[in-house]
Amino acid sequence: MNQDGDAQGGASKAIQTREPEKVVVEDPLPDYPRYRIEPGDRVSLAAIDPDETEHYQKKKHVGRELEKQRRRIQDLQERLYAENEQGMLIVLQAMDTGGKDGTIKHVFGGINPQGCRVSSFKVPSAEEANHDFLWRYHKSAPAKGRIGIFNRSHYEDVLVVRVKNLVPEDIWRERYELINDFEHGLTANSITVLKFFLHISKDEQKKRLQSRLDDPDKRWKFSSNDIKERAFWDAYQQAYEDALGNCSTEHAPWYIVPANKKWYRNLVVARTIADTLEAMDPRYPPAEEGLEKVEIPD
Ligand code: AMP
Ligand code: MG
Repeated sequence: MNQDGDAQGGASKAIQTREPEKVVVEDPLPDYPRYRIEPGDRVSLAAIDPDETEHYQKKKHVGRELEKQRRRIQDLQERLYAENEQGMLIVLQAMDTGGKDGTIKHVFGGINPQGCRVSSFKVPSAEEANHDFLWRYHKSAPAKGRIGIFNRSHYEDVLVVRVKNLVPEDIWRERYELINDFEHGLTANSITVLKFFLHISKDEQKKRLQSRLDDPDKRWKFSSNDIKERAFWDAYQQAYEDALGNCSTEHAPWYIVPANKKWYRNLVVARTIADTLEAMDPRYPPAEEGLEKVEIPD
């Protein structure tokens, strides 16, 4: 297939995967599209319950279901890798302690590392800061056949950058459109883009920070900076509302995942990814012809 053919195929595929959960999974009844933000929706995080767990009450109620979703991801990822025609970018964003690391560990543990890469983004280096803001993210974007996971992402450049006044408003405001164009470009190259905001409450953050202080094995995760950032909670929520509202598009939707209960968060993320991969329908390439006649020499 020539390059143009590829690009067009990718764009139409991306649009087809907009409502993957509705068309792919029937049992149990799919319920997760309601976490997706439709283009043009105004987002009010205060109106979304971070404690929600559907009809499940305890972690043990979702153990088997989560395992099933993880197996689906593993199987579909093998196919995606073998097919080498389309890829997936998963963006994870959350307030501090929101569970980005835990999600990666619990949803992707068991996936073949060969076809999957996690990129974590911190304060930009001097070299990164000298380039346009998308440079470092574009470099880490997945190729066809791969799944790329962004632990923090280009959204930091309209979140922390806005809240901490790191660049003037006219610069960060323009970035919503630049981000939408960037993501559109990825989908036009057959890279499906899925974005998850792990939504926790301010109380839950307090509990999680406290447990990082109390547990010697978690202390390494504690940063005094998290306390300073916590003081900007409301400004961050506002920045998230604008980012999610402005950048949930036809080609690259945002999902707001209730994340106070880690086990429910894992289930929602895993199932949304599995359903989306299934809708992408990656297939093993056809085998060479005449293999049934091949004899392996001694
Ligand atoms: P952590 O993920 O806890 O290791 O923290 C990484 C830190 O890097 C967070 O405080 C982020 O806000 C910060 N960070 C990530 N991306 C950017 C960015 N583009 N500009 C400024 N700070 C950033
Ligand atoms: Mg941190």
